[in-house]
Amino acid sequence: MGHSYKSISISEEAIKVLENFSLPEDLAFGKVMAPIMIEADYANGKWGEFKMVPYHKLTLDPTCKVLHYAQEIFEGLKAYNADGLGPFLFRAEENYKRFNLSAQRMAMPDVPAELFLEGCEAMTSHCSHLIPTESGSSLYIRPFMFATDDNLGIKPSETFKFMIVASPSAAYFSSGSVKVLVEKGAVRACPGGVGHAKTGGNYAASLYSMIEAKKAGYDQVLWLDAVNKKYIEEMSGMNFFAVYGNTIKTPTLTETILNGITRKSIVTLAQHLGYQVEETTMDIDELLSDIKSGACSECFACGTAVIITPISLLGTREGEHFKLEHEQGPVSMRIRTELLNIQEGRGDDPFQWRQSVK
Ligand SMILES: *Cc1c(COP(=O)(O)O)cnc(C)c1O
Repeated sequence: MGHSYKSISISEEAIKVLENFSLPEDLAFGKVMAPIMIEADYANGKWGEFKMVPYHKLTLDPTCKVLHYAQEIFEGLKAYNADGLGPFLFRAEENYKRFNLSAQRMAMPDVPAELFLEGCEAMTSHCSHLIPTESGSSLYIRPFMFATDDNLGIKPSETFKFMIVASPSAAYFSSGSVKVLVEKGAVRACPGGVGHAKTGGNYAASLYSMIEAKKAGYDQVLWLDAVNKKYIEEMSGMNFFAVYGNTIKTPTLTETILNGITRKSIVTLAQHLGYQVEETTMDIDELLSDIKSGACSECFACGTAVIITPISLLGTREGEHFKLEHEQGPVSMRIRTELLNIQEGRGDDPFQWRQSVK
């Protein structure tokens, strides 16, 4: 177990806790944590050693900058265990690129590619025996970075902590589809803001609407553009697609939409499977009337955690309901199956998305 990595030091204690760890039977999503983590500190303009150590709680000064000014970014990617083929990472370089784009926007330092990627590989390699093999389950890997200066001055931090933790996880949603509230009041992101960065504040901004949506019987919120409250953007942590016959539509990327790797993969894969893909401006009122008329027969949400989750219903605060013809549409489910086949190591990998980990 475990491959040695040139840039990451692996503590003896980390090996020991791994030996003594046993995986519980019941894995939810992101609840059970692997007993190891990777940690590195940035100070004086450079990164210190990247260390694999036992999973442990952090000690932070109460003025730690992230706690007050939210200078924080994260990523989410998965390692899968394919039958006898050893674990794979899925498109990890894409997560690396996005991590550093988020870092730039949030005034944080770059993490060198080899350290980010080797960190994800080392976690995968050392946890390979903890990766559940059931379809839909995986090792969910969470790299993140936050500001650690300990003073209340409002200026960019000069010290940071980078970490990677991982969670052997079952599928994200237990039910087969979600109900979605179209949010016409609050907004998630605005032009010039940080909507395209994977930063915690975007999630914090979405939670209040989420609570209201839950109360009204919905599972998720669909965000519209902040200026016109008219054009579809995305969900709080997932991108959005609508199916029109042989055509699949998704909103064009803007600075207020997170550039999802699952979204990008679906665009490529759907074209490969013979669908017409349109990245376009999507007017919410048009979509709702197209659902009513049957022109749009399926909608789905996508992201690393959820993979592809069909949407059964869109609704508004005024109490209107727009039920999709299919609760689990054939196009959504076909793309889901084909994507999972690639991610979980069944069949070909036509786009070289799988990255085998020793
Ligand atoms: C992470 C995230 C997504 C999905 O991105 P993937 O790379 O597919 O996991 C979509 N929207 C938001 C706001 C996100 O934070």
